[in-house]
Amino acid sequence: MTKLSIRNLRKSFGALEVCKGISLDLAKSELICLIGGSGSGKSTLLRCLNLLEHIDDGEILLDGEDISVPGYDPERVRRRIGMVFQSYNLFPHMSVLKNLTLAQTRIRKTPPAEAKDLAMELLLRFGLADKAETYPDKLSGGQQQRVAIARALAMEPEILLLDEITSALDPELVGEVLRVVRDLKAQGITMLLATHEMGFARSVADRVAFLSGGSLLEVAPPEKIFTQPDHEQTRQFLKRVL
Ligand code: ADP
Ligand code: MG
Repeated sequence: MTKLSIRNLRKSFGALEVCKGISLDLAKSELICLIGGSGSGKSTLLRCLNLLEHIDDGEILLDGEDISVPGYDPERVRRRIGMVFQSYNLFPHMSVLKNLTLAQTRIRKTPPAEAKDLAMELLLRFGLADKAETYPDKLSGGQQQRVAIARALAMEPEILLLDEITSALDPELVGEVLRVVRDLKAQGITMLLATHEMGFARSVADRVAFLSGGSLLEVAPPEKIFTQPDHEQTRQFLKRVL
């Protein structure tokens, strides 16, 4: 069952075309890892899906409904499609708990007690229950990123977009964040994850999508991409990063 359908998506910044007609279907509970060199358009594509960027052409269908039409309420989309960034973007002046409850109470209008219950449940699951009253700057990068993922999940999104969520972390902290993604995958959360962690992509993705210069060159199960890619460019990219 297709959850999200990207059809011929085009996006330019001035004269620079960054997404050159990208088409991709994400099935319910599927995890697709988006790989590609720096500047290939991974972040821009994810930002378009969350309506952080306007697209120039094409369609984005969520459960068959076109969310890319002009005037579509971005808040409505962001309630259903959560996004986590490389730089965590936690609210620095709020406790971990408040970071998790704010959008729930403000945007979803969840009663505060219920929002807190869900937040504590998520923190417990992520091994962060004792950090509820802590402020972000007192946490390690790995903990902050796990809080950021928990915050996105507190909105109970149908899809999670994850953009290089381990790129800012010290190597020894990468594992704890990837473990969270593995857990979410086991729970059947639908995810699109841009990553440089090839080993992780290979072991956990249902499919891997290779972006090059704003074009999706190939999309295939990891074993195929990593052992027998169709394109020479995919082979060259993997040779460089592996
Ligand atoms: P990736 O995430 O794969 O590294 P990006 O999507 O961040 O790639 O960037 C793709 C290209 O778009 C790059 O050339 C980048 O400089 C350019 N770009 C991204 N955002 C903007 C912007 N807001 N204005 C102008 N150019 C941008
Ligand atoms: Mg990026």
